[in-house]
Amino acid sequence: RIPLLAVDGGGTKCLAVLVDRSRQEVGMGRSGSCNYQGIGEEAASRELIAAIAQALEDAKARNGLTTLSQHQTTEQVEWEVECAVFGLAGLDTVHDRQVICGMVENVLQSLNVNVRHLIVENDGFAALLGATGGKPGILVIAGTGSIAFGVNEKHQTARAGGWGHRVGDEGSGYWIGKQAIMAVLKDADGRGEKTILKELLLPYVGLTRVDELFNWTYSSHYSVDKVAELSPLVSQAANANDQVAQTILQVAGEELFLAVRAVMDQLEMKNKQFQMILQGGVLQNDERVRELVIERVNRYASQVVIENAQNAPIYGVIAKGLAYLDSQVDGK
Ligand code: BGC
Repeated sequence: RIPLLAVDGGGTKCLAVLVDRSRQEVGMGRSGSCNYQGIGEEAASRELIAAIAQALEDAKARNGLTTLSQHQTTEQVEWEVECAVFGLAGLDTVHDRQVICGMVENVLQSLNVNVRHLIVENDGFAALLGATGGKPGILVIAGTGSIAFGVNEKHQTARAGGWGHRVGDEGSGYWIGKQAIMAVLKDADGRGEKTILKELLLPYVGLTRVDELFNWTYSSHYSVDKVAELSPLVSQAANANDQVAQTILQVAGEELFLAVRAVMDQLEMKNKQFQMILQGGVLQNDERVRELVIERVNRYASQVVIENAQNAPIYGVIAKGLAYLDSQVDGK
């Protein structure tokens, strides 16, 4: 029996990790986006299957688990897993929960994985609860999508933002990429300020003209995570003193702060001590956005401790699973 399968599924990548009793990683698999809101159920299931299958193969190859957990039947291998925790982007409503739980069950079935205790949560929520270990905290993600989640000393939880790429996700990689494309179009029309973003965006997507960039957004090459991939180019332009890029990143930071503030207000955390965890490509790689969020939060709340170690959501998802396994051992 494998003690733990932890899956962090975001808007760009899906990571599956198998963990043994001694808390060591024994298998790892990785695939593409598994947010069904961005790519549809079928594609999302495919990516989940790919990541988990790869983790199982990896575990087999590393040899440690073969005799312990693999039950060889005549036709196929069955896997017994004690606890599986899925932290998945796109789980935002009751409806999403229904869709995603159905997807996860099918995925596990198709891989012959039997899970004794299954936890399926939003990516931010799973990562937050694991990362804080029950202590008050706020986790803000700005990767392909964005969201803020919090838990207070009464164990109440709240969220803000994270309403997907079509009508939300302010401050996310996708949002920044989209603002960049819009700025290039405005500049080309003469409606907006001059920006060097065109010089960076066009070669990146393999194009030469602005009208081609517009057509790209309606072509089969377009995807939510490809737009999010443009966000480092905005950071690059901002570092080269491009005003338009600097403004986009400033608004991104302000928007992320608004989500954090909304969570703080809902949970009455403003004057209490709590830790804040900043995750996702934008907050990890763009100092400007990260510092702005931290500065605004520090100005608004008095006792915030920035937690730097938990910078990848998968750690929180693993911690959540380990907490469950510990509670079983302790007989709680
Ligand atoms: C999704 C959320 C997710 C967030 C961060 C958004 O696009 O709708 O469910 O928590 O991205 O990954």
